[in-house]
Amino acid sequence: MLPVSRRRQLRYSIGSKLTLIIGAVFGLYLLSVTVIGYVMYSQYRGFSTLASSHFDRAMIAAELTRDAETIAAEVFEMLVSSERSTSAGNSRAENLASIYQATRQRLDAVDTTDVVDAATRSELDRWQQPFFSSLERLDARLAAEQSLQAANLNRIDELFLLLQQLPSVGATSALPVADQRFVAHALAALSYAAAALSAERPGQIARLQGSCQQQLQQLAALPMASKGFIELRERLNSTLPTIFTSRRPLLQHERATLATARQTRVLAQKLTSATFNYHLQLKAAAQQAITVHQRMIRRSLFGLLLASLALITITVGAVIYVRRAVVLRINRLSAAMHAHQLGHDEPIPCDGHDEISLMGSTFAVFVEARRQAEQQLEQANKHLQQMNDELHRLSEIDELTRIANRRRFDQHMTSVWRRAQREQSAIGLIMADIDFFKRFNDEYGHQAGDECLHRVAQALAGELHREGDMVARYGGEEFILLLPGLNLVQTEQLAQHLLQAVRRLQIPNAQADCHMVTISLGVASVVPTTQNRVESLISRADQALYAAKHRGRDQFCSAVTDELKLMADG
Ligand code: GH3
Ligand code: MG
Ligand code: MG
Repeated sequence: MLPVSRRRQLRYSIGSKLTLIIGAVFGLYLLSVTVIGYVMYSQYRGFSTLASSHFDRAMIAAELTRDAETIAAEVFEMLVSSERSTSAGNSRAENLASIYQATRQRLDAVDTTDVVDAATRSELDRWQQPFFSSLERLDARLAAEQSLQAANLNRIDELFLLLQQLPSVGATSALPVADQRFVAHALAALSYAAAALSAERPGQIARLQGSCQQQLQQLAALPMASKGFIELRERLNSTLPTIFTSRRPLLQHERATLATARQTRVLAQKLTSATFNYHLQLKAAAQQAITVHQRMIRRSLFGLLLASLALITITVGAVIYVRRAVVLRINRLSAAMHAHQLGHDEPIPCDGHDEISLMGSTFAVFVEARRQAEQQLEQANKHLQQMNDELHRLSEIDELTRIANRRRFDQHMTSVWRRAQREQSAIGLIMADIDFFKRFNDEYGHQAGDECLHRVAQALAGELHREGDMVARYGGEEFILLLPGLNLVQTEQLAQHLLQAVRRLQIPNAQADCHMVTISLGVASVVPTTQNRVESLISRADQALYAAKHRGRDQFCSAVTDELKLMADG
């Protein structure tokens, strides 16, 4: 459980941040999907509109233009065609008109008010009816002209029959002169009439009629003997004038038909022009729709590009953030923890206010706790060592006199004895005892006695300067001095110094002969062998001490001397 203060610092946890980032990426993804969907839908709508409306209408208008053009071309063909007067022109015009009407109905079926202006639409209506009326009139004229043309053909047949009744040119030379003249005038009259059949101008017809009339008058003036010629002349007189009278209305009719055809052609051009304008406006609308559609696609692509860039930027940012905020920090923390595990004192990264920093600071707390525990353990060990040392020292030192105790002396004696035994070197030994010390205690008290013991012991210790020398409290007011390497003479010299050292203390002892504290010493020295023992050396020193006491105290006695003396005394 986190402490409250620490929990308050965790304002922005990694989980929340990652959730936020993932949410942002997901939101952007949804936004992109929505934008893409909208773009696709708009494109679908745009294409639908384009296909179902603008293009269809433009195509119908184009068909209308084509139909009007076709009709105009057909009319022209009808005019120039040889079938002009023989074919069923009326039904043909009706067919053309019905084709146009059907196309027009298809165009009217779609609403073009949004893309074609009213003027263009009214222009289409304005020329349509006059054009078809003119076309009907033309059809009627062509039909009427057809019957006139048929009558004209009958005239040609009649002329041909009259011409066949005349003798051939070769045969006229055998005829009488009057008959020859008849044939010549008849041929001329027939020629003028035939020429009138193809004459295109009224003046020309009049001139041909006048010439024909003259020839007929010449024929009438000829004296006719042949009954055949008389009948022929009558037929010429009755037939030829009708050719001229029938040719004029046909000519007029043809001219009127041409005028109607021109008018129809002009109206066809007007209608074609109107439908073409209609087509152009629809086509322009279609192109505008394409332009709008292209602009929309460009915008959509730009939006998609922006969304993709934003998505890439956020994704890259998220990767960088996760790497910096999570991966690298966890790596640093892991390396620091591993270093601590190996015993290296690495700094622990605790920056930030999230779980990783909490892990770092928690680990730092544990590391600090361990460091403090180690310090305390080290101090405790040191203290324990000191205690042990003190204990050890206390076990080897006499508490009152602050010199070695009997136990320490025994240990040291054993080692010194062995070494001297190996090296065959001498060991000096002095037993010391304070003179009349019982009396001192009685005189000055036990506490003063302790003080005296301490001062005497320190005075004895103060005379030892070599390594390996030792003074120990042997018991009560007795001391023992171990002096490795000293022979008897050297030990005696030291014993002398010891006596003086105690005297220099000048501790008063009213109960002693010299009224001050003195000591008596027993001196011995030996080179250890396998035969002699430590106890015998101590015993000899003790006996020498006894001798010193016996001699009056405040002096030393040597064991050899002592033995010799005893022997001498004995
Ligand atoms: P001598 O000259 O023959 O050695 O006579 P002495 O009185 O010194 O010898 P004795 O053995 O009769 O007396 C020793 C006295 O030393 C007895 C005892 O009261 C005293 N003594 C022994 N140990 C201590 C001690 O630790 N403190 C004190 N104050 N006195 C002690
Ligand atoms: Mg004694
Ligand atoms: Mg004594």
